[in-house]
Amino acid sequence: MATPQQLQLLAPLSGVLMPLDQVPDQVFSSRVIGDGLCIDPTSQTLCAPLAGVISNVQVSGHAVSITDDNGVQVLMHIGLDTVNLAGKGFTRLVEEGQRVAVGQALIEFDADYIALNARSLLTLMLVVSGEPFTWLTPETGGVESGQPLLSLNPSEVVAAEPMPEEGEALFSKPVTLPNANGLHARPAAVFAQAAKGFSASICLHKQQDSANAKSLVAIMALQTAHGDILQVSAAGADAEMAIKTLAELLAAGCGETVTVMAEVETVAAEASSLKVLRGVCASPGAAFGQVVQIAEQTLEVSESGVSPQVEREYLSLALVAAVLALQQLRDKATGDAQADIFKAHQELLEDPGLLDQALALIDAGKSAGFAWRAATESTAALFKSLGNALLAERAADLADVGQRVLKLILGVEDRAMELPDGAILIAEQLTPSQTAGLDTRKVLGFATVGGGATSHVAILARAFGLPAICGLPVQVLALANGTRVLLDADKGELQLDPELAAIEQLQANRQRQKKRQQYELENAGLAACTRDGHHVEITANIASLAEAEQAMALGGEGVGLLRSEFLYLDRNHAPSHDEQASTYSAIARTLGPARNLVVRTLDVGGDKPLAYVPMERETNPFLGMRGIRLCLERPQLLRHQFKAILSSAGLARLHIMLPMVAQLSELRQARQLLEEEALALGLTELPKLGIMIEVPAAALMADLFTPEVDFFSIGTNDLTQYTLAMDRDHPRLASQADSFHPAVLRLIANTVKAAHAHGKWVGVCGAMASEKLAVPLLLGLGVDELSVSVPLIPAIKAAVREVDLLDCQAIAQQVLGLESAEQVREALRLHREATVDTSLILEN
Ligand code: PEP
Ligand code: MG
Repeated sequence: MATPQQLQLLAPLSGVLMPLDQVPDQVFSSRVIGDGLCIDPTSQTLCAPLAGVISNVQVSGHAVSITDDNGVQVLMHIGLDTVNLAGKGFTRLVEEGQRVAVGQALIEFDADYIALNARSLLTLMLVVSGEPFTWLTPETGGVESGQPLLSLNPSEVVAAEPMPEEGEALFSKPVTLPNANGLHARPAAVFAQAAKGFSASICLHKQQDSANAKSLVAIMALQTAHGDILQVSAAGADAEMAIKTLAELLAAGCGETVTVMAEVETVAAEASSLKVLRGVCASPGAAFGQVVQIAEQTLEVSESGVSPQVEREYLSLALVAAVLALQQLRDKATGDAQADIFKAHQELLEDPGLLDQALALIDAGKSAGFAWRAATESTAALFKSLGNALLAERAADLADVGQRVLKLILGVEDRAMELPDGAILIAEQLTPSQTAGLDTRKVLGFATVGGGATSHVAILARAFGLPAICGLPVQVLALANGTRVLLDADKGELQLDPELAAIEQLQANRQRQKKRQQYELENAGLAACTRDGHHVEITANIASLAEAEQAMALGGEGVGLLRSEFLYLDRNHAPSHDEQASTYSAIARTLGPARNLVVRTLDVGGDKPLAYVPMERETNPFLGMRGIRLCLERPQLLRHQFKAILSSAGLARLHIMLPMVAQLSELRQARQLLEEEALALGLTELPKLGIMIEVPAAALMADLFTPEVDFFSIGTNDLTQYTLAMDRDHPRLASQADSFHPAVLRLIANTVKAAHAHGKWVGVCGAMASEKLAVPLLLGLGVDELSVSVPLIPAIKAAVREVDLLDCQAIAQQVLGLESAEQVREALRLHREATVDTSLILEN
């Protein structure tokens, strides 16, 4: 630590002083880079305002910075947007690393040329090392080059932040710099400002060179250029969040409008030569249209506040306005799914922890915007770090709602997005707020890098009835706006510049699809009987009363899976008995006494935590305290649920189903609790009790479970993930985690055989049951009931009516001997072509 002498800064130019606040460039006027002054020049040679070493002179000659021996750092920037002149009109008289005397000429410039070719000639002199100063002249009016202007108050030089040691630091993926002029003053300032928001020590690397990411001058000294490959490294508590945020910021252009480039590993040349990008289907269908890239606006926030009182007021007004705006979005939402998302956003805004964090920062002198952003970002980082898919989605929600409030604080209006017709929206991640205001008449589909089948983009795409693909490689962000693409969500493919034949085929398919849907809908009321007279029950997977009603209207023969979690999630206390009981009864009444209602007991825990059921953090939540395990550990929760479900007995043919059963003892304990609750209610007859088959152990021991259950329902989603050891939501494994894998099929076959030996029925309620291609296979394996997603009831019923049971049995036996899911799918496609009238069948 050294104490500098009083230091005078001289005018680097002759000209007229202008207040920094009036500079028509936010990065300078907001003092993000540093405080200082602005001169409208009348001379054409920029001179050193202090003695020191040239710490950076931009190749383009429009900016230079000097660091003196005490660490005082002054940046001079000639003109606005002069980086675009690429050196024309500037002559550099000094080199980086050169020691210069006060008053020494640094850069000559052609004022006429610059005035004509750049936005402005206004020249900035900024103390970027942050020392406070006092004025030695009036703050406006004429000055002569070399005239003393500022006096820097002695202050302690902040020791340079240690660079993270290799080994202790985390590194981001390489990012190809998209900025046309590299990280010049403005984007460098945005980047450094963002880096300062983290406590970790952070470096920006360009090949062998690295710079302190919190130092604007150091970043500028890296002399980055368009297309440079950069990496961020960080060491410290929030290092992970820092590298993620800063790498994303770099890729997005640090506040400049850029064409986003692909990451290095996906080499740009490769992107242009690729014809197909592969991801995961998030919402079925296909569309041909043009690329529209959607990027979240980068907002600039000043760090210090006016006063805690004023900043508290800003925050509170913005929060009120955000809640109102979310209410309007809820009211206008397209269906329950979308409304629920905005409801969850409103709840996030009521989170006292978040508000306390922001208020503490405001009270420490920060601006409302800065405080709010810091609070939301750190909470989102916490959610993400817990390694839980559901909480990671919450982090995305928080980022979305955080941005909404920040815009309100800053008075930034949401720019209405002007979309061309036939837009295929491409984004790193599409937020609910971005999709809410969209003109869906112009949007044909979504394609994103982030998100999985359960992400919000997937939910919203399904609500809009639009095809969507998630988990695409990052090259997709490098596609130019207007590129013609064919989005085939069913295959999880985005075809670039497709052949005319492929487009025509798609359009022809769409026509056939429409006709087919009409036909299916018209016949939805018919029973699902195969051509040779075998009846299969087609029931619905539901999670609300509205879905129960819709299922009945679409020909559903009952409910094969009521996911009762909907009553428990997204709230801070357990649902009351009356609330639960009235919901179950209303659903049962909708079905009536002749139809099956299978209520699955609470399947939460691990991956779907409940706020009011505190649980320890788990390393592998999918292998942890979920489903029946959680309920048996908290029997009171299960007892309450049994009691509420039992209150609907008699209104429908009531079945109770236990999720995630792996042990006979779990089934026995649960039955015991159920019997006790039924007895307490004076019920003489117990509802049917069954288990889900979604853990391989249960499928393999189905023969031992069968005598003790009334039915099985196979949850192919979880059964597949546990059989193949592949996370069902993993974006890169999703295409392999396929329920058509012969290993999963063998477990289904084993379950059916065991159940039928004891006269018990078997349903399938995983997503596989909703696939038309699976219909002959599941029928052939002997499955008695298919519980499907509500809108697909008519399609699955129609698919059953098109096959013969004997054919189905033959193909099922055949595919059990195959090697892979692809082989199974191919065999089923061929079988369908050979046995069914293909004029009414579509390739989906
Ligand atoms: C399944 O695992 O297949 C299933 C139906 O349960 P969920 O998707 O609710 O886990
Ligand atoms: Mg499951």
